[in-house]
Amino acid sequence: MIKLFDRFFTFKGDLQMSEKKVRTRFAPSPTGYMHVGNLRTALYAYLLAKKYDGDFILRIEDTDRERYVEGAVDIIYDTLRKTGLIWDEGPDIGGPVGPYIQSERMGMFKDYALKLVESGHAYFCFCDKDRLTELREIQQASGIAPKYDGHCRNLTPEEIKEKLDAGIPYVIRQKMPTEGETYFDDEVFGRITVDNSTLDDQILIKTDGMPTYNFANVVDDHTMGITHVIRGNEYLSSTPKYNLLYEAFGWDIPTYIHCSPVMKTSTEKLSKRNGDASFEDLLKKGYLTEAVINYIALLGWAPKGENEIFTLQELVKEFDVSGISKSPAIFDNQKLKAINGAYIRKFSVDEFTKLALPYIRQTCKREDIDIKILAEMLQPRCELFTDIPEQVDFIDTLPDYNIDLFVHKKMKTNYENSLEALKALLPVLEQIDEKDWNIDAIHEKCFEVIAKLEVKNGVVLWPLRTALSGKQFTPGGGIDLAAILGKNDSVERIKIGIDKLQNA
Ligand code: GLU
Repeated sequence: MIKLFDRFFTFKGDLQMSEKKVRTRFAPSPTGYMHVGNLRTALYAYLLAKKYDGDFILRIEDTDRERYVEGAVDIIYDTLRKTGLIWDEGPDIGGPVGPYIQSERMGMFKDYALKLVESGHAYFCFCDKDRLTELREIQQASGIAPKYDGHCRNLTPEEIKEKLDAGIPYVIRQKMPTEGETYFDDEVFGRITVDNSTLDDQILIKTDGMPTYNFANVVDDHTMGITHVIRGNEYLSSTPKYNLLYEAFGWDIPTYIHCSPVMKTSTEKLSKRNGDASFEDLLKKGYLTEAVINYIALLGWAPKGENEIFTLQELVKEFDVSGISKSPAIFDNQKLKAINGAYIRKFSVDEFTKLALPYIRQTCKREDIDIKILAEMLQPRCELFTDIPEQVDFIDTLPDYNIDLFVHKKMKTNYENSLEALKALLPVLEQIDEKDWNIDAIHEKCFEVIAKLEVKNGVVLWPLRTALSGKQFTPGGGIDLAAILGKNDSVERIKIGIDKLQNA
């Protein structure tokens, strides 16, 4: 297997280096949404190009009109822009090898196919639909894989001329070798070898004169000067045929980098229906663009060191094709969440407060709350902004909680000592003047009570937290919550806790 690096350095010293500038492309089909796997392909193509100061090209492969979805091209533009995968050449900005929309390149393909006919690597095929259907049926009935039988491979020039003159419709087929093997070296999968006898004489140009997808893809990659083809491994089995085309034309074969799929589980695909397959789905769930890109880079690629948090610029430096794995990547929501949390913690408190405010306001409308204290409390405990509304929903109204919440094994609390703690806290906290009500003052008073009762901190602080929130999980401890709720509300809530426990 040729290592990308060796290859790069061999051509780095080459006089023709400018011709060999790394050029990668993202060639999406506009089918309506940006699948996580496609975004990963785009990202790897971008990273590879930028790592070597090369060009990243966007080509829209829109020739399959049945799969074409209106508006899908805009989704592609928007996603790439939003994620920072900025292309150097593309449909909107043009470039030296345009057009960059496949359907606008249709004129040239037939001439390329005719060159192959001339050199003996392709041929005219005049077989009609009926013959091909019959052939397929016979093959199916005999359990043979469907394959063109080469009926028109050896027509004489006279026979061909006669049929062309008679206006018989034709396709142009690739003349596959019938013996021996064809192989290519993939940077991820290593050497892939196929028996030539299994290769079908695939159609290059259809009866309407238009190219098939495979043919257009190869001619486009060559005419656009693509040096590294990065794509999903569903194309791995077609690549030998692509390679034979490059060889037939005498063109340089690009470096192939096929990537395994991104899966939901080891057997289940990410699906559009479950809302877990696309970039847009992830943003809707509250993930940050930077975190998604960081996580997607790690789906099937491992950095050399321990660190896994990288900005796009850092990824450009860090990315190395040798780190791409052959095994399918499993989408791990927990890991994405953890990475999202790491990005949330990178914000300054002010930035975080600004971003968190709309989420806080979904459930907490109180105007007398010090949002900054609340935000400081939330930031280290938040993996997703969408977690916030649920974390702060007790602030406006104390939920009607069950007193079992006071019982905590590790904190060693039960109904009795919780009641005792709250009763001890109430008068002490009431002593604090409303204008002096802050974390330090509350902290001091709580620790006076802890000392007086001669108990562990939890025996006082757990009941306080429960009484103030009525919840098992809160974004901060009892002291923080008291500071946020203010004196009056805190005192009220402690009284409610005492009542509940007394009436138990
Ligand atoms: N248009 C193809 C797709 O969206 C990409 C093929 C390629 O990258 O060669 O799957």
